[in-house]
Amino acid sequence: MKRITIIGGGASGTLLALNLLKYSGDGRLEINLVEKRPHIGRGVAFSTQEDSHLLNVPAAKMGAYADDVEHFHRWLNDSEMDYSALAFVPRRIYGEYLREQLEEANKNKGQNVALNIFDDEAVDVEIKEGKASVQLASGDHIYSEKVALAFGNFLPPHPTIDDQSFIDSPRYFQDPWSPEVFDSIGTDDSILIVGTGLSMVDVTMQLYKLNHKGLINAISTRGQLPAVHKLGFTYPPFFEEIKGARRVTDVLKTVRAHVKKAEAESSDWRAVIDSLRPVTQQIWLDLPLAEKKYFMQHLSRYWNVARHRMAPEAALIIDELRGTGQLQILKGRLQKITWEVGIGFDVRYATIGLDQYVHADVIVNCIGSESRFDKLDSRLVKNLISAGSIRCDDLRFGLDATPDGQLKGADGQASDMLYTLGTALKGVLWESTAIPEIRVQARDLAHKLISE
Ligand SMILES: Cc1cc2nc3c(=O)[nH]c(=O)nc-3n(C[C@H](O)[C@H](O)[C@H](O)COP(=O)(O)OP(=O)(O)OC[C@H]3O[C@@H](n4cnc5c(N)ncnc54)[C@H](O)[C@@H]3O)c2cc1C
Repeated sequence: MKRITIIGGGASGTLLALNLLKYSGDGRLEINLVEKRPHIGRGVAFSTQEDSHLLNVPAAKMGAYADDVEHFHRWLNDSEMDYSALAFVPRRIYGEYLREQLEEANKNKGQNVALNIFDDEAVDVEIKEGKASVQLASGDHIYSEKVALAFGNFLPPHPTIDDQSFIDSPRYFQDPWSPEVFDSIGTDDSILIVGTGLSMVDVTMQLYKLNHKGLINAISTRGQLPAVHKLGFTYPPFFEEIKGARRVTDVLKTVRAHVKKAEAESSDWRAVIDSLRPVTQQIWLDLPLAEKKYFMQHLSRYWNVARHRMAPEAALIIDELRGTGQLQILKGRLQKITWEVGIGFDVRYATIGLDQYVHADVIVNCIGSESRFDKLDSRLVKNLISAGSIRCDDLRFGLDATPDGQLKGADGQASDMLYTLGTALKGVLWESTAIPEIRVQARDLAHKLISE
């Protein structure tokens, strides 16, 4: 009997379990899936029950299976949910879809295959003589030959300012997805959102839905909002022109030329970016470390704005709120935040060397998941790092691993027992956080684990 333990039952862990069930045939296999949240398949992204929280990928591209990307859209229609292929569907429905797919695969699995779900937190993995023992917070242990770490998104880091005493305030929320955020916000409270990406859009959409009256300020160093999806355009692949490029600026030059061409041919720049999606990881893998560092320092924010786009429905609301002045986008670097009971937060930030001030009753952190694993407040990650079983990648943007997810330990050796997929591979693959990438990784990793 082969035994595989998956730590984390968000989308990544669920898709891996799903593929293991699907491809294991009649082989003898025990799959253990450990999830500390109450629901399997939801994770951070799909736990929301808010209809205003939309997928940022159209329905026809969100299929759970790498070889059937339209599956989710067909499932919607089969479930009598009338969404077009281009619709941006509420994320809670996607969580339901993943749970149902896992249930189906479990019903149809081979006779000698078992799926065990553990409603628990994994706190350590001990590896000895070809066996892994996963220790759970409850004190139980799971024994297996292979372990996949699918721990996904972590809480964002706090804003980097010297005096961090403001984080103790009950009105500062490090976790923008905590239900407490909206339970505790008064209608007239002024809000400061740190970050101007897709999480900020979510928080603002929910405030809008709750008919919030107070001022909403959102701040980031560049004050750039995500671009807006514009569907219905295509652009032919041009990977051959950048294949093997060793300099980021060469890639950029080629992409710019194609954006110009797209515009001249009445296409759209978004279609050019989207045409790169299947090859983005390969472009990244071909670049030397120094070029990756250059990209992260100087260009990644532009890539993020262009690549991680918001649904047009969300953009309409953001525009409306900006139009009335209720939502203001601030550009600058946070310098100081003080908090006093009954007064709130006084915030100083700098824009091109000039000090600016803003007041807020509530601060919501929308900076995005912490990528520095050596800074994470996770018992499991701390234990794995101190045992030398895992280490940060060279960019400190995720974990060090082979491109197909074999984790590297402190000695730089790729493990044949510890694997990962999804967010932890961001530094190795750059694009590794969304379903279109994760479903491919889950399929390929399942094949690898079954065949080894
Ligand atoms: C708000 C938001 C919206 C998004 N929207 C989209 C979208 O529309 N389309 C898209 O393609 N992508 C989207 N993404 C990207 C998203 O990260 C992926 O689609 C996917 O959901 C990631 O799943 P995951 O399982 O890797 O991570 P997570 O969702 O973070 O799940 C990881 C799970 O592991 C569990 N876990 C962690 N550590 C342990 C432990 N020690 N023991 C037990 N359990 C543990 C956690 O409880 C969690 O449930 C979004 C991301 C966010 C944050």
